[in-house]
Amino acid sequence: MITVKSLQLGFGNSSGSGGGYQQVLHDVDFTVAEGEAFGLVGESGSGKSTVLRCLAGLYSHWRGDIAIRGEALGRRLTRERCRLVQMVFQDPYGSLHPRHTVGAALLEPLTIHRMDRPHERVAQMLAKVGLNESFRQRYPHQLSGGQRQRVAIARALILEPRILLLDEPTSALDVSVQAEILNLLAELRAREGLTYILVTHDLGVVVHLCDRLAVMQQGRIVDTLPTSELGNGGVAYTRTLVEATRSYSRSRE
Ligand code: ATP
Ligand code: MG
Repeated sequence: MITVKSLQLGFGNSSGSGGGYQQVLHDVDFTVAEGEAFGLVGESGSGKSTVLRCLAGLYSHWRGDIAIRGEALGRRLTRERCRLVQMVFQDPYGSLHPRHTVGAALLEPLTIHRMDRPHERVAQMLAKVGLNESFRQRYPHQLSGGQRQRVAIARALILEPRILLLDEPTSALDVSVQAEILNLLAELRAREGLTYILVTHDLGVVVHLCDRLAVMQQGRIVDTLPTSELGNGGVAYTRTLVEATRSYSRSRE
């Protein structure tokens, strides 16, 4: 249902003499099935967020083919495509306006997309992410990090998308809150039949939430495997990542 073929993207000026051009994605290929949770892992700077941003339509200068639910992703996004694919960022402040209450943040997309019963939808959505009605009146700075991320998830889901792009959704949270948010995401996916593409540098998060994963290195996918094989399969680089995670966990015990 999501097909990415030979995706290439660079930044900077390729024609100038300054040599400022950097190729960030080199022929990235992967497919994600309907209802699947697909992880994208790899070292910092390997291009994970850039792939998500291409899928979200935040960049338009990529080359290659992206198809979502059988429809090629064009340079201009249709209103329906915007509704179907939503993104959650590492820092929930990124998607919440500091001067908008939680209620206003959730109403805004509904107004833009002219959805019916907006107030009823806001109440239902708050309940789904485990926040009661009193949160409607609060501003982002009056929320804990975990509550803020719940609101960001609610805002992403309020238009009833089918695909959620998650860029390090728990990295800014402490460990106990991370688990709460991961459980919420697992629950929402099971209930709503959503498709996830989750970017993280934390293999623990992938194991918790994903069916399959791709490993990125320097703008390329170097391995794709089921999460269940993470402990014993994969190419050498994947095994290095797993070993690095294990020794880090041991050092914290
Ligand atoms: P991290 O785990 O640190 O978030 P990442 O895998 O998500 O890393 P990206 O954010 O996709 O990495 O960045 C990949 C490369 O592209 C980096 O070298 C980065 O500096 C570069 N890059 C990303 N966005 C831009 C941009 N808008 N302009 C120029 N270079 C960029
Ligand atoms: Mg990133």
